This record gives sequence, C-alpha cells and structure tokens, in this order.
Amino acid sequence: MNDNELIARAAEFRRHAYAPYSSFAVGAALLARSGRVYGGVNVENASYPVGICAERAAIAAAVTAGEREFEALAVIADSPAPCAPCGMCRQMLMEFPVARIILANTEGAVRVLTPAELLPHAFGAAALPTKELSDENTDC
Ligand SMILES: [Zn+2]
Repeated sequence: MNDNELIARAAEFRRHAYAPYSSFAVGAALLARSGRVYGGVNVENASYPVGICAERAAIAAAVTAGEREFEALAVIADSPAPCAPCGMCRQMLMEFPVARIILANTEGAVRVLTPAELLPHAFGAAALPTKELSDENTDC
C-alpha cells in the first residue's frame, strides 16, 4: 500500500470522527507490518480532556488486535498545513515506532516524517530504571 492509498483510507475513517465541540475532524490509518490497516478518529467528550485523538485511537485498535510493528501512519484533517500529531500522540508513537508518518490535509498537501523528526530527544523506556519489561507488567 502506497502513501496515497493510506491517506485515502485515513480520509475514509475521518468521516466517522466525533468532533461536536471543535468541529475539527481527524482521521488516521495505521499500516501494520502484517499488511492490515487500522483506523482511528478523534472522539471528543463533553469533558474535554477525556477525548482521544485519531492517532492514539488507531494505535489502540491495532494493539488490541495483537499488532506491535508498524510500517506507516497517515493522518488527515482539514488543516491549513498537513495535520501534525499533538505532543501526546507523538509520545505514544515512540512506544510503537512507525517507519513513516504521513501528514496530510484535505487540500492534498503531504509531508512525510520519521518518528525522530516528529519528536526529537524523546522520552522512552531506555530512560526508566533497568528492569525487565514484559507483557505481564502491562496488565491493569
Ligand atoms: Zn493527539
């Protein structure tokens, strides 16, 4: 799947965005190494901080399905410039690195970045005290 096809998928998902407060609909399409594509949209809430961004929603959907390795993430919105992920989503992307992050807007502008370009000097697991990380530690 090429970048334009992934952007098109993100645009399709975007139609399901729930953005009654900001009217800023965002769609994301996350291409896993398996070849499957997972969608995400922003889902707002009357209690504003409760809402979730499209990028993190896509990552959550993919991880829920058992995916951990990703090729590309496309994000699209009706923004003046290609839609850039917020800081929280940039941090989330460092947890599950994506080779290419494709930013787009509805006018056809596109910018492709690496995770390091999107969030230089990122915080990560390497900064934590040395301890074996395992799936067992992630259970609630
Ligand atoms: Zn975000």
